Amino acid sequence: MYITTLSKPIVSGNIVILPMKKPEGGKIIINGIEAKPENVVKYDARVDIMDPTTKKRCFIIEHVLGPLRMLGITDAIVLGLDKTWNFLRPEHRFAYSLGLTPEVVVGREDGKQRPKLEEIINSARLKTDKQFYVSVAQEVYFKTVDIFGHKGEITITPLPPESGIVLNIELFKNSIEDIRLGENGLEDKHLAKKILDARTPFLIGIEKEEALFHAIGDVIADTVGLGRLTDAKIDVKLNFFYHSLTVGAIKRAKTIRRGAFQ
Ligand SMILES: [Zn+2]
Repeated sequence: MYITTLSKPIVSGNIVILPMKKPEGGKIIINGIEAKPENVVKYDARVDIMDPTTKKRCFIIEHVLGPLRMLGITDAIVLGLDKTWNFLRPEHRFAYSLGLTPEVVVGREDGKQRPKLEEIINSARLKTDKQFYVSVAQEVYFKTVDIFGHKGEITITPLPPESGIVLNIELFKNSIEDIRLGENGLEDKHLAKKILDARTPFLIGIEKEEALFHAIGDVIADTVGLGRLTDAKIDVKLNFFYHSLTVGAIKRAKTIRRGAFQ
């Protein structure tokens, strides 16, 4: 797919999204830390990354990565904007105890993915003339059992260039099949809007339909955002703390890469 960044900075709630000067294909840097599987330090109810050199940590990065890739942005620089603490939030307490400042938490307080981002990103999207391709080298299968005994399973199957991402997802009693993510992000723009507005299952309950919409964004964040995949089939049956499953699979996956990505 074509490497796509932004032509100008845009503000979306508690973050600012800036153009990447030298886009490589799937490179997203949040608060100076590259979002890649090696930098992930926590993946269960949320996903955190840490710079191995500075030890600076960044919290809830999935609610940045999913929305960007869902809207076709492959490369960007993101900075958190929050200036005040809310000690009811566990990640704020954790960040405070580490001596960090509130902008290290890039997830929104209301638990939504990134409402209305689709409306503001269209005027700033900048497609380059460079292409890249990332898939898994061979089929990846991974399973986990959560603390309540629910089994989660994921299979990632390689696909050739220009296939895009095909996602089949199940979250407890709700499921959606054949979600397609291509050159311009999610093909179903109505679904994209619903996902961006959906709250986390950890605030609303895992059996709500809204929780499934939210989880689609999280799965895209972990596989396409962190894993940088452009072409693959993903079949996933999620359990409770499902980032253990999806990031766990991506950490184990061997990928093949072509194009500008170094
Ligand atoms: Zn989430």
